[in-house]
Amino acid sequence: MSLRWLFGPTKKKENENPEVKKLIKTLKNKDWTECETAARSLGKIGDARAVQSLIDVIQNAIRDRGFVQAFAGLATSPRQQALYRLKQEMDRNKSMFAACGAAAEALARIGDPRAIKPLVDFLTFDQRAPEVATSLVAFGEPAVAQLSATLKSADPFDRMRHQSTAAVLGRIGGPQAMDVLIGALKDSDLLVREAAAKALGQCGEARATEPLMALLKDESSKVHNAAAQSLEKLNIPSAQEPIVRKKRAMKTPKFVEKRRTPSGTYEVYRGSDAESARDFLKSKTVNEKQYYIKVETSTGNWGKDIDGLYLERLVPFQLEINSAQCEGSICGMPTPAGLQYAANRIADNFVVQVKCGKCGHKWEDGIGYKNMTVVRCPSCNSLNKVDSGPHITGMPGLLGFKIEI
Ligand SMILES: [Zn+2]
Repeated sequence: MSLRWLFGPTKKKENENPEVKKLIKTLKNKDWTECETAARSLGKIGDARAVQSLIDVIQNAIRDRGFVQAFAGLATSPRQQALYRLKQEMDRNKSMFAACGAAAEALARIGDPRAIKPLVDFLTFDQRAPEVATSLVAFGEPAVAQLSATLKSADPFDRMRHQSTAAVLGRIGGPQAMDVLIGALKDSDLLVREAAAKALGQCGEARATEPLMALLKDESSKVHNAAAQSLEKLNIPSAQEPIVRKKRAMKTPKFVEKRRTPSGTYEVYRGSDAESARDFLKSKTVNEKQYYIKVETSTGNWGKDIDGLYLERLVPFQLEINSAQCEGSICGMPTPAGLQYAANRIADNFVVQVKCGKCGHKWEDGIGYKNMTVVRCPSCNSLNKVDSGPHITGMPGLLGFKIEI
C-alpha cells in the first residue's frame, strides 16, 4: 500500500500538465495564429482550467472586431450596408475565425456548459467557423434552450442568426430540438419558417411530416419550397403524392396571351424549362389547323399544333457538337409531318424520342435533319450527341425513317 493511496490525491499538481498554464497565457495574446495553436493543444489536453480563457477568445473576437457595432447598426442603418461591412470585416479576419474555431472545438471537448452561450453568440459566423456549429451539436440537448431563445428572439442581432441556429437544432435533433423547430414553422418571419423547414428535413424524423405538409401552402415560395425539399428528404410515402403535385404546380407554365395573326392563332405560355414545357403540352390537344400552343422557356420554345409536339428552333448549345459528353440514340419514330418540315427546311429540327447514352433515360427532343445535334438528358443532365443521318432514308417527298428495334 503506497503512501499516496493513504493520503488520497491531495497533490493536484501531480496531475497537472505544466504546459497548460503556458498555453492559457498564450490564449490572451493578440496574435490569432498563436492563439489558434494554443487552443488546439488545450483541446487535446482537455483541461477544465482553460474553459474561461477559451470563452474569452470567442468573446474578444466578437467585441474587438467591431461585430457588435456592425450589428447594432442594423437597427438604424440599412441592413445591406451593415452586412457588407460585416463581410469585409470577416474577410480580413480569417485567422481570427480559425482561432475561434479551435477554441470552440476545445470547449466542446471539455464540455463545460458555460461555453454554450458564447458559442451561440458567435454562431452567426458559422460559415467561417463551422467548428462553432459542430461544437454546439456536440453539446447536444443542453444547448437546445439557448438556441431556442435565440431562434425566438426578435432582436435584430439574434435574427441574423436564425438560419444557423435552426440548422444547428436540426443537427442536434431529438424531441426538444424538434419541438422548437416545429414551433418555429409558425413564426411570422418567413426566413425563420424557411430555416426551420430546412432543418426539419435534416432531423430525419417522421413527426415533422404533418407540420411540413401544412407548410406546403405557405404564401412564400421560399418557405413552401423548403418544406417540399425536406419532405422529400424524409421520404415518407404518404407525403410523396402532395410533393409531386406541388412540384408540378410550381413548374406549370403560366399563361401569357392569346394572339391572332395571319399565320394562325397562338396561345402563349411562359415555362421554367423544356422538360416541364413538354409535359404541359402533352396534356393539351389541338384539333384545329393553324392553332398553336406555345411555351417559351430559357431552354427552347416548345409548341403543339395539329401535327403534334414541335421545337420552334434548336437552341444554340444544341449545335456545339464538341460539348457532348456521351453518345445518345434515336429510339422512336418522328411524325411524318415533323420530318417533312425538317426535310423541306421549314424547321431546323424534328421531334423524336431519344435515349441517353449515359443513364438510359428516354425523352422527346428536337434533332437536326441528317445532322448531329446535342440534347441534354433531363434525368442525368448529360449532353448527348445524336446523329439523325443514318436513320433517314429516301428524300423529301418520299421520306423514310428507320430505327433498330
Ligand atoms: Zn441521362
